[in-house]
Amino acid sequence: MSASDWRKLLKQLEKKPEIQARFLRFCKPKDRKFGIAKYKCTRCGRYGAHIQKYGLHLCRQCFREIAEKIGFKKYI
Ligand SMILES: [Zn+2]
Repeated sequence: MSASDWRKLLKQLEKKPEIQARFLRFCKPKDRKFGIAKYKCTRCGRYGAHIQKYGLHLCRQCFREIAEKIGFKKYI
């Protein structure tokens, strides 16, 4: 479960506490120290093409959309 957010699953399991507890114990994706699944876009939740520089934590698509609002200039 790398592409979607596994926490959405918890919402479904709220009415089934035993199954939820079992999921959290055995099936929950482990917290990553490194790799593509560690960083997520703070705006849209995408995993790929992550920009970590300057503490942005955005994906490239979101960065393109809001770069000028943040104060980045495009030099040619
Ligand atoms: Zn994004």
